[in-house]
Amino acid sequence: MANNARAYRRRQLWGWIARGVASFEEMHDIPKPLRVALERDFRITSLRTVATTQADTGSTSKTLYELDGGHSVEAVVMRYTDRSTLCISSQAGCPIGCPFCATGKFPFGRNLKAHEIEEQAMDAVRLLAGEGRRLSHVVFMGMGEPMANYQAVIESVRRMADPELLGISPRRIVVSTSGLIPRIEQLGAEKLPVTLAISLHAARDELRDVLVPINRKYPLEALITASQGYGEKTGRRVSYEWVLLAGVNDTERDAKELGRLLRRKLAHVNLIPFNPVEDTPYRAPDRTAIRRFKEMVEAQGLNVTVRDTRGRDADAACGQLHERVMRDKATAGRARVAAETAS
Ligand code: SAH
Ligand code: SF4
Repeated sequence: MANNARAYRRRQLWGWIARGVASFEEMHDIPKPLRVALERDFRITSLRTVATTQADTGSTSKTLYELDGGHSVEAVVMRYTDRSTLCISSQAGCPIGCPFCATGKFPFGRNLKAHEIEEQAMDAVRLLAGEGRRLSHVVFMGMGEPMANYQAVIESVRRMADPELLGISPRRIVVSTSGLIPRIEQLGAEKLPVTLAISLHAARDELRDVLVPINRKYPLEALITASQGYGEKTGRRVSYEWVLLAGVNDTERDAKELGRLLRRKLAHVNLIPFNPVEDTPYRAPDRTAIRRFKEMVEAQGLNVTVRDTRGRDADAACGQLHERVMRDKATAGRARVAAETAS
């Protein structure tokens, strides 16, 4: 096939995939023999759906996928009146090991390939197309540390942003990181103005060393310099995430430290009420404590919002469904070992 014809076919194929078809058979402007050959030799997706759950009366849905090789990851679709957001995974497990996070509790599995990241987005496109909706936003806030799987994440972002593929503006793609400084600097040089979210959770090194262990390598002051550098280079306001843990990081002292760190900077603080994870020593603050902390942060002169905690019921918050499945697998494994030992 001549190059032009090949490029035309490629565009046709991607066009169909971006519109959410589930098989090559449905691509009716592609000649039948080619469709048959594609169906025989290729897969639209390598992801196998293992479980799905719904929450918030159907406006949140979460899917657990099995990857080639057996690891699993999850993705969450959140539907709002004016947009649809996908929370996506970049790794099976996470090597950072934050003590409050369900993903960090299991041994690290592996990095996802770029196509496995995109396939989560394509599956969401398919799901939403069936409801007459379009995927408008993608947040790398599922399983894994995106900056620890840098090349695959960047490649997948470029393809999701490509107008001939998924056409999602990079500004509507949020890359959330625990703070790998060299990768934040590299990201700033990509000419890919994604929104950067930094998982801060503490504004003094002594506490952040515990909550986000990578802080021992990349401490706070250098992290803020790198993050604000990203903001200046791209013209994008940086988001700072703060998971609220009762009695741990929701006091006046924390608000003041946060104020000292971010005052007069182009920054936004997102407070995320802790979504309880079993076998951790942490608790979620009550409503009053959340409101009080928000006011204390505002009093420091910072922009702050409390994040909507979608998907709390039905295991749908990031990390949770996977945890339940892992626990079930572990229980099944233990039962099998017990049975084998007994026989
Ligand atoms: N590894 C990256 C991105 C995935 S985690 C990062 O840490 O930024 C996405 C966000 O979910 C992070 O801000 C993380 O701190 C938060 N998170 C993890 N566990 C949580 C929990 N149990 N409740 C609320 N937020 C949580
Ligand atoms: Fe990894 Fe993010 Fe969870 Fe920390 S919060 S363990 S960096 S996924």
